Amino acid sequence: MPILQTFGPSAETVSIPHPEGELGSAAHRHGVLPMPSLEWNPQVERETAPLYARIAKVVPAVEWPFFAPYVKAINALKKERNAVILAHNYQTPEIYNCVADFVGDSLQLAREASKVDADIIVQCGVHFMAETSKILNPDKTVLIPDRRAGCSLASSITGADVRLLRERFPGVPAVAYVNTSADVKAEVDICCTSSNALEVVESLGAERVIFLPDQYLASYVAGQTKVKIIAWKGACEVHERFTAQELRDYRASDPALQIIAHPECPPDVLAEADFTGSTAHMIDWVRRNQSKRVVMITECSMADNVQAELPDVEMVKPCNLCPHMKRITLANILESLLDLREEVTIDPVIAEKARRSVERMINLKN
Ligand code: SF4
Repeated sequence: MPILQTFGPSAETVSIPHPEGELGSAAHRHGVLPMPSLEWNPQVERETAPLYARIAKVVPAVEWPFFAPYVKAINALKKERNAVILAHNYQTPEIYNCVADFVGDSLQLAREASKVDADIIVQCGVHFMAETSKILNPDKTVLIPDRRAGCSLASSITGADVRLLRERFPGVPAVAYVNTSADVKAEVDICCTSSNALEVVESLGAERVIFLPDQYLASYVAGQTKVKIIAWKGACEVHERFTAQELRDYRASDPALQIIAHPECPPDVLAEADFTGSTAHMIDWVRRNQSKRVVMITECSMADNVQAELPDVEMVKPCNLCPHMKRITLANILESLLDLREEVTIDPVIAEKARRSVERMINLKN
C-alpha cells in the first residue's frame, strides 16, 4: 500500500452554513423580478428549436415542452441581470447544453468566471464549487440555486480537523483537493484538482505530504510518486459505489469496449480501466480517441453531455447519479435569477486565506 498513513473523518457531517439574515441581501441590492410566462406554445417551440437540437440524442422530444419555457425564460433573465451560469460536467443535459455560459470542472468554471464582466454568477454545481467561485470573484454576487447541494468529500473534513492533522505532523505541507469547504482550503498550503494532484504534490519538494480529503485520489497519487502520502479517509459517495467486478462484466460483454474511470474510484476499479483521468481529461480522451463504444466510470450525466456532443460514439452509462448535483434544476435556476438566492458568502478572513491556497495552485499551472 503506497499510502503512509490514513486518518478518518470526524463522524459528523458538516452542515452547509445558512446565514440567516444574509438571504435576501442580493435581492436588496439588485431587486426581485416577477415570474415570466412558462407557457409552451409555437413561438417558444420555434425559438428554442436550435437548443433542443443540441440534446435531441439524449432528451426525448416529449420532455422538451416541459424544459423549453424555463430555458427561454432563464436565457432572457441572464441578460437582464448581467449574469452568467456556470455548469459542472455532472449537470443534466438541458442545463449543461441549453442555459450554461461556461461548462467544465470546478476549477475551469471558477477561472472562467473570474474573466467575465458579469455582476452575478449562478453556480450550477455543488456548494464547494460556489464557494470557490466566490473565493476567486469576491466582488461578484455568487448564487447557488439550492444551498443543500453538498458533497460527501467536502463534508468529511473541517478546518479544525486540518489543524489537528497539522499539529500531529508539524512541518509537513498539506494539500486540499478542491472538493473541500473554504474553511478547509484556508488551513492548507495549496489546493489541487484531480487533473493536477500529482504535479501539486511533487511541486512542494517535501518527503511527506498531507493529502485530503479523498483517500482514493490520495492512493492514485501515491502510486505515481516517491512522496509519502498521509491521507484522510474521505470518499465520493458516487465513485465509491463502482466495483471492479462491474468493470470486468462490462469487459466480458464487449471486449472492444473502452473503459475510462475517474480517480475518485477505489484502486481495484482503476486497475480494470483503460484510462484514468479527471472529468476534463476523460472528455478530452473521448474526443481524441473516437472509440465506437465507451463506458465512463463517473457520474452519469457526464456521459449524456459527451453523448450530446459526440453522437457517433456509443456511451454505455452505468447510472450512478450524484444526489447533490441533481438538486439543481431549471426551476430553481429560474427562481435563483428572479429572487437572487441563495447567495454564497464567506468570512473575509477565511476567504483571503483560502484564496492563497487556490491561487498558489493556479499560479503553479501558469
Ligand atoms: S460526485 Fe462525488 S465528489 Fe462530486 S459532488 Fe457528488 S459526492 Fe461530491
